[in-house]
Amino acid sequence: MENNTIYQHLFWKSYNDHFYKPIISRYIHPYEINSALKRFSTIGKVSLEGHSVLGKPIHSITLGTGSYKILGWSQMHGNESTTTKAVLDLLSIIDAHKDSAETEEIFKSITLKIILQLNPDGCEAYTRFNANEKDLNRDAQDCSQPESIVLRAVYKEFTPHLCLNLHDQRTIYNVNLTPKTAAVSFLSPSQDIERSITANRKVAMQYISAMNTTLSHLIKGHIGRYDDGFNINCVGDTFQNLGTPTILFEAGHLEAYDRNDTRKAIYAALLQLIYCAVTKSYVAETVEDYISIPQNDKKFYDIILRNTPIKEEIKDIAIQYREELDGGLITFRPYIAKIDNLNDYYAHKELECSGLDIQINTSEKLAEEIDIVNVLINGKKLSFVKNT
Ligand SMILES: [Zn+2]
Repeated sequence: MENNTIYQHLFWKSYNDHFYKPIISRYIHPYEINSALKRFSTIGKVSLEGHSVLGKPIHSITLGTGSYKILGWSQMHGNESTTTKAVLDLLSIIDAHKDSAETEEIFKSITLKIILQLNPDGCEAYTRFNANEKDLNRDAQDCSQPESIVLRAVYKEFTPHLCLNLHDQRTIYNVNLTPKTAAVSFLSPSQDIERSITANRKVAMQYISAMNTTLSHLIKGHIGRYDDGFNINCVGDTFQNLGTPTILFEAGHLEAYDRNDTRKAIYAALLQLIYCAVTKSYVAETVEDYISIPQNDKKFYDIILRNTPIKEEIKDIAIQYREELDGGLITFRPYIAKIDNLNDYYAHKELECSGLDIQINTSEKLAEEIDIVNVLINGKKLSFVKNT
């Protein structure tokens, strides 16, 4: 790549033409990944790395022959699919330009190995956990689960120079002290209790700083830094502790609940990361640049009904969605998360309800945690997010 502005790059400019169109939903069944891998076996080597608890295959795809090796894995948590879609976009766009000089330049410099769904059982069931109801991101030391063993074996054999730990975060996160959602958050995980800034941790910070600059053009104010409390049971902390620069990606909420807007932002970040890996331009970034990214906070609800008359009182009612798999799509089921004064909180949708006639459900008593069947505001039905 000649230009460090990825927005001038062929791989960015052709996004709308060549992103991976077969998958738009938040839900990605493992068979969809298998067919994607079949399609992309023309540009990379697909390998069977092992099996899940329920015996599903766990595949990787490896592109390039370069000496600098990058290992990424997505959907360690089965209900976190946005980064998987961004990686599929990357594969699709590389495929569309597989004979270009750009592609050749990148992949003689780096080797990229990606596991698109590390937890295929959790992906099928749309759950965070694997089929033994274990959180794989707390199993990095024990390696008690087959999926953890697969990842560790791939890591050991591939000996990456850089690891990408790809996740989604909930809709509750904002960028600290702002009313902006944390659409993308990053972390260079700690590798010890003192949160020392070691050489490898610094490299991850430098990459993040470069991606932050790039994303600032696309989703200004919507980029956060994840909490760096040390937990050796987390995969990122463990790999960082083993001396490999490791970056946590968290795809969050921008505007659309299908998160295809965030997906594009993650794609931009990945493109910038690849550019940095090829040119080594990340070395110009500083730890201070990384630290200057504002931290995540948890100040968002999905909906807030402001100043709602409840019996003799006026309260704010916060509504959250539960994401549930229903007929191959993700359904967003609203429930009451909080009834309180919520002046310090924001919502993706806010309604001023003072003086209005508000009816929530029909006969049920209002309380936190109850499911919402419907909300009538002056007799008109409040609309909720459609399934995706
Ligand atoms: Zn996660």
